[in-house]
Amino acid sequence: KDDLLSVRDLTVEFGPDRAPLRVLHEISFDVARGRILGIVGESGSGKSMTAKAVMGMLPEGGRIAGGEIRLADRNLVGLDAPQLRRLRGRDLAMVFQDPQAALNPVKTIGWQIEEALTVHGMSARDARSRALDLLRQVGIPDPETRIDEYPHQFSGGMRQRVVIAIALANSAPLIIADEPTTALDVTIQAQVLRLLVELRERLGVTVVMITHDMGVVAELCDDVIVMYGGRVVERGAVGDIFAAPQHPYTRALLRSMPQVAGDRLARLPAIPGATPDLAHLPPGCAFHPRCGLAEEVCRRTVPALAPIPDRPQSEAACHVAQREGRLPPEPMREVEA
Ligand code: SF4
Ligand code: MG
Repeated sequence: KDDLLSVRDLTVEFGPDRAPLRVLHEISFDVARGRILGIVGESGSGKSMTAKAVMGMLPEGGRIAGGEIRLADRNLVGLDAPQLRRLRGRDLAMVFQDPQAALNPVKTIGWQIEEALTVHGMSARDARSRALDLLRQVGIPDPETRIDEYPHQFSGGMRQRVVIAIALANSAPLIIADEPTTALDVTIQAQVLRLLVELRERLGVTVVMITHDMGVVAELCDDVIVMYGGRVVERGAVGDIFAAPQHPYTRALLRSMPQVAGDRLARLPAIPGATPDLAHLPPGCAFHPRCGLAEEVCRRTVPALAPIPDRPQSEAACHVAQREGRLPPEPMREVEA
């Protein structure tokens, strides 16, 4: 298998060495070239932190305490700030949630795309024609006029297309997108997702998509990892996981997806109970206070991520699914608050 990105046992901590706060616990996943991996979870699950660690952009006070991040066989863990800066844009590029914040309001979008190119060594003239070409690639109409306009002259969806053009500027093989459609209207979201699918087809880019929305995963992704409490709790191909989730949290996420009921969209109630605070994770399986299948062992021992006999091509971290060979249905009962 040709993996572009390989993350192994990635552990991230904050605070002093003698009493560190561990926010990511031995995260492992691979992304094969040309695939789209979804990292899904509620806020506080560690999904954005995972993306930031890969990009070398951990917030102040955060550090990688263990593990490897291999991008095309180069370990990014341990690179210094200038090395990481050179990598960004050229080897991996980012698309953030808010296109407004990602763009400079007082510079034309042409200037911003051209800067992304010249900073990696392209001449100003080549950068201009490349910028026009990029605007065409992301579906901006009339690029010859629009290249000299400012971000406020673009709609939210068009701004996000500009941000994607900047991400594509230096042909970085890996794009990391952190909730890139969350700030957009539903119809615009669908258009931006379609653009990403199209770019993967056309340019063969590899994408890591951070999202809280299983609908986005269904629409866009080939593979998915589900995060909870700073750990990966399930991973596999999207088709397998949608057909038969093997972790109760994944099942709950799927159940809380909007469903088409008659001719309207009905959102089912959110998962009961609160997301855990990464600083005070429940012992054992962090999901146990919200889990309808929790047993004594769940309160004591952290379940390892392992293949489930019924679905050996993917993995889940659940004691009960591992023992039963598949995830049993949940009994009807009140879940502890
Ligand atoms: Fe629920 Fe236990 Fe499985 Fe955790 S390990 S998801 S608490 S059954
Ligand atoms: Mg986030």
